[in-house]
Amino acid sequence: MVYCVGLTGGIGCGKSTVAQMFKALGAAVIDTDAISHDLTQANTPVLQQIAQLFGPDFISAQGGLKRAKLRVLIISDAAAKAKLEDILHPLIAAQVGHEISACRAPYALIVVPLLFETSHYLPLVQRKLVVDCDASSQIKRTMARSDLTEAEVHTIMAHQLARPDRLERTDDILRNEGDLETLRTAVKALHEQYKVLALSLH
Ligand code: ADP
Repeated sequence: MVYCVGLTGGIGCGKSTVAQMFKALGAAVIDTDAISHDLTQANTPVLQQIAQLFGPDFISAQGGLKRAKLRVLIISDAAAKAKLEDILHPLIAAQVGHEISACRAPYALIVVPLLFETSHYLPLVQRKLVVDCDASSQIKRTMARSDLTEAEVHTIMAHQLARPDRLERTDDILRNEGDLETLRTAVKALHEQYKVLALSLH
């Protein structure tokens, strides 16, 4: 079994950016958001199930999923969130398991936005890594790359674990408050550590 590091962090903190940097160094990246995205493409059985459950309003004229609309619904409706997770979680978990088994890299980085909020992935990882930045950078970066309003970003943040709780639960922290080169240097140092830690598994 390959050594697995769970990567998490609040919205806009830099998970995808950091994951790309680890990947460039040779780590395998297993991204649960990307898997979820793939599973819910137009004309997939999962999308049909979602349309049946939540109504055709969640499907665009082109047949794709209205992701922002669904996200707003599940933030305010716990029952809807549970139903969506019942559909998606087993499929995502199966794909993660498959990618772990197929992994030939020195170690795998599993990207899970809600690693600490849900209990699904903690048993799979040997080490936890949080990418962290202050709330104002988080809001600024999220708004710059999406069409979410500041209020919507605040709502999403309020439904994620509070920053001190996340930092308390992790093994490692990547502070992402400087430029990308500073971040890359910190990623390189961790990558070297993870390669050594991964050897201890064999
Ligand atoms: P997450 O995956 O945690 O939501 P992203 O990696 O997508 O966060 O980062 C959010 C946005 O901020 C992206 O547009 C990314 O390019 C940008 N970003 C991340 N880190 C930095 C940084 N150190 N300097 C400048 N922009 C950054």
